[in-house]
Amino acid sequence: MKYTFRGGAHVKEHKHTAACPIEPLRDVGQVAIPMSQHIGIHCTPTVAVGDYVYRGQMIGDVANGLGCPVHSSVSGKVLAIEKRQNVMGTVIEHVIIENDGQGTLAPEIVPRTKGLSETSNEELIEIIRRAGISGMGGATFPTYAKIQSALGKVDRVIINCAECEPYITVNHRLMLEEPMSILGGTQILLKIFGVMKARIAVEDNKMDAVRVLRRARDASRRIRIKIMKTKYPQGDERQLIYALTKKEIPAGKLPADVGCVIFNAETCAAIYHAFVDNMPLIDRLVTVDGDCIRTPKNLRVPIGTSYTDLIAACGGLKKVPDRVINGGPMMGFAQWSLDTPVTKGTAAVLVLSKDKVQKQTLPSACIRCGTCVKNCPMHLMPNYLAAFARTKQYAEAEKLNVLSCVECGTCSYRCPGQVEIVQYIRVAKGAIRAEQAAARARASAAAPDLGNGGKK
Ligand code: SF4
Ligand code: SF4
Repeated sequence: MKYTFRGGAHVKEHKHTAACPIEPLRDVGQVAIPMSQHIGIHCTPTVAVGDYVYRGQMIGDVANGLGCPVHSSVSGKVLAIEKRQNVMGTVIEHVIIENDGQGTLAPEIVPRTKGLSETSNEELIEIIRRAGISGMGGATFPTYAKIQSALGKVDRVIINCAECEPYITVNHRLMLEEPMSILGGTQILLKIFGVMKARIAVEDNKMDAVRVLRRARDASRRIRIKIMKTKYPQGDERQLIYALTKKEIPAGKLPADVGCVIFNAETCAAIYHAFVDNMPLIDRLVTVDGDCIRTPKNLRVPIGTSYTDLIAACGGLKKVPDRVINGGPMMGFAQWSLDTPVTKGTAAVLVLSKDKVQKQTLPSACIRCGTCVKNCPMHLMPNYLAAFARTKQYAEAEKLNVLSCVECGTCSYRCPGQVEIVQYIRVAKGAIRAEQAAARARASAAAPDLGNGGKK
């Protein structure tokens, strides 16, 4: 049986690198490590210019609140701590480290001797926090916090190996080459949540990976491999949960509210390495592809590696680039500089020529065909949402649940009127969230100071 969801689109897959084994890239001259690669509070650097740092040494941490530490991905000297733009265009602190090429590990990184059954859940969650693991499927939510918020609420763990975005093949290669890291991470999550069931969801365009995982798992059958129909956006957690359980997550709720918790394949492998090898999250698998790249590859790179170094490792450019994208073509973000570094959330870097970038050929116009409504996996009315956003009627867009949009881009992809629906929706969501934050700030400023007996 193959599982699927309602709506979505069959997009061109462009999985050119599916047969490209993961190649390590180590000899980068320097790395620029952003002090925030997760949702939450930015880290404060814990090193100074001129310090020598080991590979795996913590170089930034969050004192209190939501966030996770960052670590050096190379050994070498801290050259600078300076503000630079991150992948979203926000200016934040980066620690720039000159790579000495030795890869000298921090002395505390030694394989753990204590077994899983002798390690308490509190210890496991702290190991995951200290390793700086945040969601590697794009959401970048700190993994320890996701686990804490779902404890006691779930009866199944789902590992998301759908990888439905075009071009990206790193999860596919991870399943083929290192299945034990995914299965081992899944065992750790089963222990933490105290549940019997884990489901690894793989799309049916990766049947070789399904066979490898089925051969590698243990005989207990607590971990089952589920085959999903290849359709975009199958990797969206709401679609995945619906496909596997037929449960819909109500607007504003989380997977844990319907008894599920989802982790991306590479996040799961990072949990395994944090536990077994004591290794923090310092490397990342990246698909480097696009028609401008001379030799597309799957690379394992130190976090902080620049796009320039990725492109050089793939033989350079063979065409003039028109667009550089962090992530896939459906949900990724265009970049303005090749100095941008790889972060914990970078699954792909695509370099596309003007032949591959969809350009507006006519003035966009909604012809009321209803295609976007029919295909929206969140059952929204994208045509109305775009129209309200374009005319800044954000309250009307909010009434139509614009905040439930997962920004999958299916509506824009299918629109014959070339309406940039998802761009309008992003603007509306940003405006509504800014207004909500301002309202919260006004309310807290107006609240009486109860700590002072309510006296001013
Ligand atoms: S798909 Fe495009 S043209 Fe058709 S209803 Fe939606 S916005 Fe209008
Ligand atoms: S409205 Fe949002 S969720 Fe629906 S298809 Fe468009 S981008 Fe995807």
